Amino acid sequence: KIDANYTVIEESDVRPLLKDRNPFAHKGQMGHALIMAGSYGMAGAAILATKACLRAGAGKVTVHTPRKNCQIMQVAVPEAVLQLDHEETIITEAVDTENFQALGIGPGIGQNEATAIPFIAQLRRATCPIVADADAINILASHRAWKQQLPKGIILTPHAKELDRLEGASVDSFERLTKAHQLAERLHGYVIVKGRYTAICMPDGHIRFNSTGNAGMATAGSGDVLTGIITALLARGYEPQHACIVGVYLHGLAGDLAARDLGEESLTASDIIDYLPRAFKRLK
Ligand code: AMP
Ligand code: MG
Repeated sequence: KIDANYTVIEESDVRPLLKDRNPFAHKGQMGHALIMAGSYGMAGAAILATKACLRAGAGKVTVHTPRKNCQIMQVAVPEAVLQLDHEETIITEAVDTENFQALGIGPGIGQNEATAIPFIAQLRRATCPIVADADAINILASHRAWKQQLPKGIILTPHAKELDRLEGASVDSFERLTKAHQLAERLHGYVIVKGRYTAICMPDGHIRFNSTGNAGMATAGSGDVLTGIITALLARGYEPQHACIVGVYLHGLAGDLAARDLGEESLTASDIIDYLPRAFKRLK
């Protein structure tokens, strides 16, 4: 049973949380994010998360991705630095995260055992805040024991189906939310249940509902964009709970501004990225 505090995130909650950019800023002080994403045929997930991460203000973004994605990544996102893994999948031993301020992991990585084993090692080894999304959540769902080994403060961003895989099927969204709420408390982490009214379940039992977003965002790649945004905010030094609140609000607002100009029907995940600058400007 949920006896949590529910509140809705409004623009007036988000504005005071936004960090200013120091006029003397250097890219090294604006956060270096590591995105682990993509497998062969899923380079797009890595591209969307990486572009969103840059647009959300990270000083530098390094992408860890399979070697075959090298050329397409360099052309699509020339600002990113690549760390290349095996040909078609990510199967290396865990990467050192000492030089990164945030790790975003999961979009398009696939669920091969060869990826799953180093993945859990990576989560345990990471020294920075983590956002785990998409296949990262699917891998956890098929290795139940690993859920007990997740680092405190981790942010999981499942959509309804991913949460059902992770915590078992629910009869309705209320039961699903209850499970997410309990999971956040158990993990001492954050569970963002994405959908029409995205809910952020906090480790202290609070649940914050987002008030932005629209049905145009029900389109491939939308979630990868959110992963990139939250990873950027963590790298910039936002507290995890603030990165979640600001991240989901900005993502939905960018989607709303895009839908106002383009309509919901034609909206793509790339449009959400293109409208992120307008979302920031509206809040600043
Ligand atoms: P994913 O399913 O991982 O691609 O994530 C989809 C993203 O788009 C999430 O951030 C959702 O909250 C958002 N989204 C999808 N459908 C809707 C909708 N009908 N209304 C508002 N936001 C949505
Ligand atoms: Mg997704």
